[in-house]
Amino acid sequence: MSHMLKGIGASRGAAVGTALVIKERPADVQEKRTDPIDPKTELAGFENAVQTFCAKTEKMAQKLDETGASGEILRGHILMLKDPFMLSQITEQIQNKISAVDAVTATCNMFAEIFAAADDELTRQRAADVQDIKTRLIHILNGEEETDLSDLPENTVLVVGELTPSMTAGMDSAHVCAIVTEKGGKTSHCAILARAMRIPAVLSAAGVTESIQTGDLVAVNGGTGEVQIAPDAQTVAAFEKLKAEFAEKEAVLQQFKGKPTVTADGKVKELFANIGSDRDVQEAMENDAEGIGLFRTEFLFMDRNALPTEEEQFSAYRAAVTGLKGKPLIIRTLDIGGDKEIPYLGLKKEENPFLGFRAVRYCLQNTDVFKTQLRAILRASAFGDIRIMLPLVTCVEEVENAKALLHAVQEELIAEKIEFNKEIPIGVMIETPAACLIADLLSRQVDFFSIGTNDLTQYIMAADRGNADVEYLYSVYQPAVLRGIQHIIACAKEAGIPAGMCGEAAADPYLIPLLVAFGLDEFSVSSNAVLEVREQISRWTVDAAHEIADKALALQTEQQVREYLKTVV
Ligand code: PEP
Ligand code: MG
Repeated sequence: MSHMLKGIGASRGAAVGTALVIKERPADVQEKRTDPIDPKTELAGFENAVQTFCAKTEKMAQKLDETGASGEILRGHILMLKDPFMLSQITEQIQNKISAVDAVTATCNMFAEIFAAADDELTRQRAADVQDIKTRLIHILNGEEETDLSDLPENTVLVVGELTPSMTAGMDSAHVCAIVTEKGGKTSHCAILARAMRIPAVLSAAGVTESIQTGDLVAVNGGTGEVQIAPDAQTVAAFEKLKAEFAEKEAVLQQFKGKPTVTADGKVKELFANIGSDRDVQEAMENDAEGIGLFRTEFLFMDRNALPTEEEQFSAYRAAVTGLKGKPLIIRTLDIGGDKEIPYLGLKKEENPFLGFRAVRYCLQNTDVFKTQLRAILRASAFGDIRIMLPLVTCVEEVENAKALLHAVQEELIAEKIEFNKEIPIGVMIETPAACLIADLLSRQVDFFSIGTNDLTQYIMAADRGNADVEYLYSVYQPAVLRGIQHIIACAKEAGIPAGMCGEAAADPYLIPLLVAFGLDEFSVSSNAVLEVREQISRWTVDAAHEIADKALALQTEQQVREYLKTVV
């Protein structure tokens, strides 16, 4: 009988195929060893296993590179395993007469627990990577074969508890029409790889490895997260239609790959991507982003026990900019506070964290933290086109003070004969009503603007971006927000500096004609929206966009604006 399950739609597209259910043998059952443990033999075995692991992983990474996806995630596994702390934990345990298998299990479990307890989704997902490393190392130590997915029948819907990066790499991807898992979120590596390979995927669908049997017919919608088991003929037809529509849309989008971003009348725009880690650069490049318009560096500071060192930050920034191969990288300085907490900074609990001691306010009072970050950014600027961006600016003094600190750091680097770009551009995010109202003054202080609509909307509307009860107010179609955006771009134009937008609204198809009319120069969106935004921008001439913007701005209410835009876009 037909039966529907729901998970997270993590890679868009639809498919109907035959299920292959993989039930992984749990690798972390305690070893039942009765023989005495000889640390020397165990250690040699472990070292051998590490070597085999690295060699195999590098091979898989190369294979992934060849298929057009990136092998970097797997290379990250080699780095994780070779982390001195990880290695020393394992070897220490072996020296204490614990078997290699148990030492690997305990250490990986410890790391996975630390990651899984993290507040941010991105770090939580790294727990899956550690589990993947663990399972594979144990298989190698036990001399067992790893799950082989390299030869699959056509139209396979892969159903698995958790699809690990290594499984994905070894997978016969041409014959996999969809992936369904019990675990994993939108930012898990499985999700990233599925999107890169353009395979529809539904993750975190509870109980799928039990409710689906190998051989079952399964219909999957990777957009909505729907999984239909044993669908009837009507459902199959509906999914096949969806699949065809998606393929058609995808084919159109693919035509925009490698093309410049231009309006229908030839106005060139910049189309960048937002990232939260240097590892995301690859996905941005695969989606043909022309640069990075927002590197949210706070992720480097989150889910750890101490501040990242200058060296750690420098390597992340350098990795990001070298990965961009000459394309620009806008690094936003630390934006903590509000909804982003960092326990080890020991910040006081605040009555109104969104209005409190956060972002550039914190950095200007904690100059040691700020200067370390600026030093790391400046040092990385010797390796590519890096620009600095300050978050949550509300007054000119903040920019002046930040620039003074930047100059001080530059002087230090000159004295130390360390290379950096002396002309590094500095810009501000316009995401507070204050910054919007003094955009003319700020425009004379900086090299560029980037509008943070996520915060700008909440502050203009005085409606918490995370509070469902006031969601009806939290909308970029509110006349107040639209006027704000128009004003900010006009001030940038007046001063002759580029205006960008890195809030979610930059990818909103209904807003794009308005942004074209206002003269926005740069759109920075999530990697998977890049081609769609390029296609949307190509639809509008500046004149047609103006016509729509004039009408939209003459309307009185959010609902009128929203409904009007839906009729013309
Ligand atoms: C914004 O506020 O629009 C923005 C891009 O920054 P964040 O979402 O990180 O606050
Ligand atoms: Mg913001």
